[in-house]
Amino acid sequence: MKQLMSGNEAIARGAWEYGVRLASAYPGTPSTEILEYIGERYPNIKAGWAPNEKVAVEVAAGAAYGGSRALAAMKHVGLNVAADPFMTLSYTGVNGGFVLVVCDDPEMHSSQNEQDTRNFAKFGKVPCVEPSDSQEAKDLIGEALRISEEFDTLVIFRSSTRISHSMSLVETKDRVEGTRELGLKKDPMKFVMLPAMARRRHPVVEQRLKDLAAFAETFPYNKVIMGDAALGIISSGAAFQYAREVMPSASFLKLGMVWPLPEKMIRDFASRVKRLVVIEELDPFIEEAVRLMGIKVEGKELTGLTGELTPEKVEMALTGKSSAKSIGSIDMELPLRPPNMCPGCPHRATFTALKKNKVYVAGDIGCYTLGALPPVGMLDNCLCMGAGIGIASGLDRSLGELARGKAVAVIGDSTFFHSGMTPLLELAYNGGSTTVVIMDNRTTAMTGAQDHPGTGSTLREDPTIKADIAKLADAFGFKRISIVVPYDVKETEKVIAEELAANEPSLIIARAPCALLKTERILPDKPLKIDADLCKGCKACINTGCPALEFVKIEEPKEGDKRKGFSRINEALCVGCRTCFEVCKSDAIQEAS
Ligand code: SF4
Ligand code: SF4
Repeated sequence: MKQLMSGNEAIARGAWEYGVRLASAYPGTPSTEILEYIGERYPNIKAGWAPNEKVAVEVAAGAAYGGSRALAAMKHVGLNVAADPFMTLSYTGVNGGFVLVVCDDPEMHSSQNEQDTRNFAKFGKVPCVEPSDSQEAKDLIGEALRISEEFDTLVIFRSSTRISHSMSLVETKDRVEGTRELGLKKDPMKFVMLPAMARRRHPVVEQRLKDLAAFAETFPYNKVIMGDAALGIISSGAAFQYAREVMPSASFLKLGMVWPLPEKMIRDFASRVKRLVVIEELDPFIEEAVRLMGIKVEGKELTGLTGELTPEKVEMALTGKSSAKSIGSIDMELPLRPPNMCPGCPHRATFTALKKNKVYVAGDIGCYTLGALPPVGMLDNCLCMGAGIGIASGLDRSLGELARGKAVAVIGDSTFFHSGMTPLLELAYNGGSTTVVIMDNRTTAMTGAQDHPGTGSTLREDPTIKADIAKLADAFGFKRISIVVPYDVKETEKVIAEELAANEPSLIIARAPCALLKTERILPDKPLKIDADLCKGCKACINTGCPALEFVKIEEPKEGDKRKGFSRINEALCVGCRTCFEVCKSDAIQEAS
């Protein structure tokens, strides 16, 4: 039966059809829906959110060691977190099939960098497959599992935002189980990577790569589509679709396995075409390999090294002009809509209280990263998931008096469980005077409200433990732990001031559920209004950054009115969180009748 599916939907379907028994992931755009679909539709796959990507890989590795087919999913930067087990898994091998789905984000639609996961495949000496539509996304999960078992290696499955989120038809099939015997099999020479064992495994890894390169020559998803020999294009993934769309008569070498590369096939293809171009997203990964073979090739000098490709960009690169239109291209200019925290977002209230204390904020990755943007403008750095506490602590301890009472780290609850626990322990252990604010909104909000170990609910919404942040901090040795409701801006501001003054590490848990959560809702959903006559136009409320607030310019002021304008609340957006009310010194904000 044919069904219309997104790439992520098809990956989830592939996991089910090809006998995956366990799937683990940490949410991250554009990979998040893979586990959500598995959780929702395929109950015979054991599936759950892991606290972070490293753990997701370890859990899936355990399943594969026991003979199960296993899948771990993450976004590209997640593989950085999982790099440690990933690199050595290449040495131990896997037994049962293990596919590691990594979704890249060219153009950084929602990421902090645009790293190219194919480099990890080369670095870790493991194969990498890449689909170019949803059908391939499903089928290549099966191929990846087969390759994984045949060559005893984890296989990277590289997707990208465009493949993960666009839809095409998929032919579905029934589920087939994996071929491996299940059970606990002792084999320390293979699975315990003490130096003596690891030394024996490295030659195995090198030989495996050679065997995989030979296999790549016959892999049916590496295919030549001969057309006009004047132009030969080597491509893969979404880039192949763009190139095919704008140059339908050209010749193509379409790669379904992007590492290791089929050298003979590439040489043969190159010898059959007059002009050879590699069209690929992000790094010149294939291009450099082709060049190393001594073959003349064009590539990144045409398409550039950054951003997502589009049909227009590819046509411009190949012909110098373009009539192609990308998906989503429109002819009208839309007003800019910068990303913003939602009306009623508790983070905004916390930032308002922090602003009053004039602090330096080491940030982290989550909705609160948007606090870097004006008018909130409260993040002073943001490196990666879990980094904020360590950075604030490093600033505080190295700068001494220069940072005393000013260095604050903010981190969300999901991010805290992801990779904030160890720096919090480091802070307790090595001391200093850093104040940590955990912005606990009871969910993984930025990726769409997924559960985590603190929410009391699993991927499939079964009840489970509720990891207690305050108790963890207590166990780590924190003496100063406070819990505040951030909407009480004045109280939050006071607690922050007290903790900044303390000459020891302190933790503030600013706890209020995400404004979009349907459960645990504490917002009154009763809009406020502003009395235009009482409003002084000071913009204190506007500076909280709430999208429900707008500033109305006064074009023709009445006599004696020196105001430039006044604030107004859009009652359709306001959820009555009272953050603006707390900052207005003119009593201009009231409950709407
Ligand atoms: S804080 Fe009060 S006085 Fe100032 S602009 Fe807002 S509503 Fe008007
Ligand atoms: S009460 Fe104020 S800050 Fe809260 S949602 Fe309404 S307008 Fe925005």
